[in-house]
Amino acid sequence: MSDKSSEKDQALMEKIVSLCKRRGFIFQSAEIYGGANGCWDYGPLGAELKRNLKDYWWRKNVQEREDILGLDGSILTLESVLEASGHLGGFSDPMCDCLLTKARLRADEIDPQSGTSYHYTGASHEESGWSVERPYSVLLSENQDENKARKTARLYYSQFLSDKQISPKKLELAGESTEEVTDSTSYNPENGSLLTAAREFNLMFKTKMGASADENDPKGTAYLRPETAQTIFVQFKNVVDSNRVKLPFGIAQIGKSFRNEINPRNYTFRSREFEQMEIEYFCREEDGMRLTDEWLETRLSFYEEIGIPREHLHVLDVPDGERAHYSKRTYDIEYEFPFGIQELEGVAYRTDYDLKKHREHSGKPIEFFDDEAKEKLLPHVVEPSAGCDRTILALICEAYDEETITDDKGKEETRIVMRFSPRMAPIKVAVLPLLKNKPELVAKAREVQSMLTPFMNVFYDETAAIGRRYRRQDEVGTPFCVTIDFETLGENGDEDKDTVTIRERDSMEQRRIPISELREYLLDAIV
Ligand code: ATP
Repeated sequence: MSDKSSEKDQALMEKIVSLCKRRGFIFQSAEIYGGANGCWDYGPLGAELKRNLKDYWWRKNVQEREDILGLDGSILTLESVLEASGHLGGFSDPMCDCLLTKARLRADEIDPQSGTSYHYTGASHEESGWSVERPYSVLLSENQDENKARKTARLYYSQFLSDKQISPKKLELAGESTEEVTDSTSYNPENGSLLTAAREFNLMFKTKMGASADENDPKGTAYLRPETAQTIFVQFKNVVDSNRVKLPFGIAQIGKSFRNEINPRNYTFRSREFEQMEIEYFCREEDGMRLTDEWLETRLSFYEEIGIPREHLHVLDVPDGERAHYSKRTYDIEYEFPFGIQELEGVAYRTDYDLKKHREHSGKPIEFFDDEAKEKLLPHVVEPSAGCDRTILALICEAYDEETITDDKGKEETRIVMRFSPRMAPIKVAVLPLLKNKPELVAKAREVQSMLTPFMNVFYDETAAIGRRYRRQDEVGTPFCVTIDFETLGENGDEDKDTVTIRERDSMEQRRIPISELREYLLDAIV
């Protein structure tokens, strides 16, 4: 990406973040207390948008399918479940700290760097007799002045001074030597300072269950689940025993997951608390690879149905060595966010790994009896696992648009439009009486509003000029505005009586439609 385009993308992201706050889509959690890093609250419009997404996902994947059942599991998860799944031992990221600024970085995300490394053995301050001995290094790229290394090293050693009045500039560095390094990830790309060695950092939030004081009580420790999938595996037998199912079939769940991410970033993209929409689709082993490919297509179509076009999605066939060790095939579905192409969803063939692990650790027989083949087996599983918050962010980025329009007086202005698909739009229709001081207009508008509210989210607005009210709705992506005017009241003759003006957001076209047809018209557009 060129500097120019990345600056443009950054500016676009800033506009999106600002609109989300201004219009009530997304707020930082606990903002008035300084903000909780990696946690976000959805405001009134964000909550509607999220609900529309989750409802549509549930409808397409559970209600409209005979082969998928729903589940809604608890968030608090016993340690034994996560021990079996491997999260207790292995759900971690390698992490290192900058020795100078203490910034924490993900070791596997540091770009390799080359240059000259300046090594030191310690520092001293002659006047006070103070000294410290510990190795430290600074990496300089080709064109940097060697004094930069010395300045950084003095700053580093000055942390150990007990007398904070002493200026770092007064420190004498000891044992300077240099070395050429290539492709090293041991230095902070921001300032060249040496990093600590990488340590594994478990990403799970741990908590205590009940009042048990016994540290070793296996039921006294719980975790906030790091993924929704494990509940599905743990409840596999109960779901099978309480329903008539035959292979292949799936269990679907939407719910919160928690990961203590080292670097929450890119707005809501990497959060510590987020929602997942996951399906575990159980099948016979011989169907695993084929169904993985089929699910990929089904999921790509889903994104198109909610307004994310195929050309903005990328599919990464995760190569050998980069997939989870138990996965025979994994596709990452990625979206072109303004901050880069990043993962929205993973579609993974997980073999029978999870059920096997839970059978082994729980000691319970959780096999499935295949009535048709008359055999007991442990099914394999394909997992389409989508992030709800990441999809919301993609919907918002995709919808944001600015266009220059010319008003009636020939004046140019910028129109901000959120081009949400009507299916996802938080407000489906705005009902607007032309004037608020005409009781007949207001009464009729209220009547139209009440007629529509049982079926969709309706917004009523009577303040400001009609043009301004349209703009406000454009900015939050309302696909239709319905205006009640004097023609509605029959003042221009019977022909237009009980008709309203319906204005379409994207084309800004307006046409008249009888009130009696309004509900049907809108329902067809938003279903
Ligand atoms: P990443 O590589 O981005 O950390 P992942 O591969 O670990 O993601 P999975 O464990 O496959 O993610 O989780 C499935 C989906 O859950 C992801 O595709 C993403 O949409 C969502 N997800 C995972 N971690 C986060 C997070 N920290 N914040 C928001 N969504 C997340």
